[in-house]
Amino acid sequence: MADQVIAQRWTDACLAQLAGGVGPDGRVLPGKGWVALRRLGWGAVAPVGVVVSDRVRRVAEEEAARALRLSTSRRLVVVALLSTWPRNPAQRTDQEWSTLRRSLPDGVDSATIRNRTRQITAWVTRCDRLPVDMCELEAAPGVARQVSLAAADRQLVRVQRVDDRMVRVWVQLPVCPLPGSYADWVWHALTVRVPATMPGTPTVCTPTLRPAVDGVRVDLPWRVDHIPSTLMGHTRAVGADWGVNTLLTGTFADSDGSGGSSLRAMGGPLRFDATGVSSKFVRLRRHREQLNTKIDHLTRLVQGRPAAAVPDPALLTKLMRLRTEHETVCARIRHLNRALAWSAARWLVDHATTADATVIYLEDLTTLEARSGSRSLNRRLSGAVRGQVSTAVHHLATKAGVAVVRVPARGTSSCCPRCGATVRHVKAPDRLVAGYRWTTCGCGLSADRDHAAAQRIAARGLANQTRTRRDPTTGGGIIRTAIDAPIHPHRPRRRKKTPGAAAPSRPRRDRRKNGPTRQQVRPATFRCSPLLPSRRQTPAPADSPQAVTGKRPAGRLPQETHPGLQVPTTIPTRPHRVRGALLGHGFHHLVHATPVPTAKRPNR
Ligand SMILES: [Zn+2]
Repeated sequence: MADQVIAQRWTDACLAQLAGGVGPDGRVLPGKGWVALRRLGWGAVAPVGVVVSDRVRRVAEEEAARALRLSTSRRLVVVALLSTWPRNPAQRTDQEWSTLRRSLPDGVDSATIRNRTRQITAWVTRCDRLPVDMCELEAAPGVARQVSLAAADRQLVRVQRVDDRMVRVWVQLPVCPLPGSYADWVWHALTVRVPATMPGTPTVCTPTLRPAVDGVRVDLPWRVDHIPSTLMGHTRAVGADWGVNTLLTGTFADSDGSGGSSLRAMGGPLRFDATGVSSKFVRLRRHREQLNTKIDHLTRLVQGRPAAAVPDPALLTKLMRLRTEHETVCARIRHLNRALAWSAARWLVDHATTADATVIYLEDLTTLEARSGSRSLNRRLSGAVRGQVSTAVHHLATKAGVAVVRVPARGTSSCCPRCGATVRHVKAPDRLVAGYRWTTCGCGLSADRDHAAAQRIAARGLANQTRTRRDPTTGGGIIRTAIDAPIHPHRPRRRKKTPGAAAPSRPRRDRRKNGPTRQQVRPATFRCSPLLPSRRQTPAPADSPQAVTGKRPAGRLPQETHPGLQVPTTIPTRPHRVRGALLGHGFHHLVHATPVPTAKRPNR
């Protein structure tokens, strides 16, 4: 029935009418597909001799409406391409590109343009003329072999929750291929075992049935109620600061709930260090730039040939291969960005939930001052990663019931979290020359730069809870103007000495952080290795595996030094724990993160 509706309405005029979104009576077409088709008078009709209820017709109309609505967006692209069809479709000129871009709807990517152009080119080769419209260019789409029961109502389908792990779907189905009367339609009970990944008692929605080789598949959607997180009344928070190489540095902070008079920073810094990933980014971006240069060069060569000349097939093949490689590298950069962002967000939210923190304070990215002339940010982690981390933190924290509040970023690292005075940045606690990594202050503060900033962010959030507003774009909270409050490190209260008790045998350890941690003491000659070693490229030997993939860095191979040596691979065979933190494939050697404790932290 759905196929029949599509076949009847597979004309450019009908698609234009559906895309226009206005029915013949002048009213706007509703979102529900089957209602829209009935409004247009395109209802489905049962085959002769077959009796189906109105609800079954709705299901068929819904399928047809979805297929037709999908093709309306393809139609706009085809219309734009046909109206601006260039002389040489393989090579549009700049002017042809700009004309095409103007006539295309927003958000059409180059892959779609390329694929549709190829489709039309193939049609032109076959028929020796341009197609009139999309309906001539391609055949009517077939509908998916599925039954979207959501278009029907309780007279055709009912969903019953048996217990936590079981759902029963009651649905009226025919008992023979061609039901001749309503007596051939009977209620069937489909028992569905709920997968263990589904939470306990969510609302189960109407399913979609799909015939499979071994029976019927039931696509069972479910819904959990979203409870907006509270924005005020938090007593334990995580503050997180964006760093350059350390993507995120976090700290816990406690408030006694009296409005910011006594804020305490708890424990040491939490770090998510992505230096390894950023050098991988640098490598990929460099590769992308090299490919761009080659593509530009070859494009100039192709365009420089006289118009009448036969195109050089070798040149075109090479150009196509380079373009494919370029797309692959771009995709890898995108994937790496996304994997890094979600990994960092998961890490931060896990820390918050294990420590019973109810709110995460992040710097508002829109108020971050762009540091002009700083090449470090461009070279390392781009701002896009931060935006993705921010989105992912919002998503995961909402699921975990933790609020995310953005605080203004102004002055977080330039002022002291304890006294508010302007701080001095030095290279290291034992190298008091102007630098970047270490923060010192006249009041005695001596802390890692990002850790001090994270403390100030947490304090800013906790002290300004009454100014928190709901952010309509993210659903989280936002503090637009803030008054800073001092935050001091938490010092465990010393036990009172009872008279007569034996004196402690060892001197008490001084826990104040006045100097560098012992393990971090480095010889004065130590220099951080540059982001990427400067390597000469040499042609690989003809018989080596690198000969296939390209050049390798200069120097001897391990096999040349020790014949028969098995070189260890760095590709993990299973997700690794990095210092306790599970980071998945491919990240284990690139990210160093403070491990999330497996047990809950004791409530201090
Ligand atoms: Zn200070």
